[in-house]
Amino acid sequence: MNLVLLGVPGSGKGTQSKLISKNFGIPHISTGEIFRENISQKTKLGILAEEYIINGQLVPDEITFEVIKKRLSQPDCKNGYILDGFPRTLAQGKALKTFAKIDRVILLDITLDELKRRILGRRTCEDCGEIYNTSNYALDYCAKCNGKLISRSDDTEQTINKRVSVYEQQTKPLIDFYNEENLLLVVDCNNSPEEIFKIIESKLKIEGRFEI
Ligand code: AMP
Repeated sequence: MNLVLLGVPGSGKGTQSKLISKNFGIPHISTGEIFRENISQKTKLGILAEEYIINGQLVPDEITFEVIKKRLSQPDCKNGYILDGFPRTLAQGKALKTFAKIDRVILLDITLDELKRRILGRRTCEDCGEIYNTSNYALDYCAKCNGKLISRSDDTEQTINKRVSVYEQQTKPLIDFYNEENLLLVVDCNNSPEEIFKIIESKLKIEGRFEI
């Protein structure tokens, strides 16, 4: 079962990918994470990619395609995988079709109001990185380590609007493409992460994609 997860930044792609990976026993492949690992290890790829990433640009396709092809050819991808962050553009979606067979594309559908609530309410522990939301956690220190909770500097209303508009320009055509290919599974994400995962799981099981 080869899956792709699509959704605006903040829709919960990372959280859902991890839940799907753990529960269905397939690797979670995030191009962003591969780039970050390479940057921290100062590899040739990391040095090339960093220049684009720090400027908020997409890494060029010829580099990204090589990375993803190499990762998908590894033995742990034999029984399926979940892609998070790739494809990101229509060109990448069309290219992916030439070297992989995608079975389902899950779109995390979230309203702008819910996205703002999540991102503007997000607080991260300065010490251990644990994430909270002011909607269900009113304290200003971490329940795990007592560290101070802070807001990320890029979690502002202005940045959210920018991220949404970039996503709409670049990723919306990809959604139309997968819709035409009959691969799209739209999941309402105005819910808790656990409930969203249950919906994804039951939809995939009903389709017989995974054993119950
Ligand atoms: P992410 O963790 O998915 O938000 O990715 C972090 C950064 O890595 C992005 O802002 C891009 O610069 C780069 N990146 C990740 N995935 C891709 C991709 N599919 N194509 C081009 N650049 C990407």
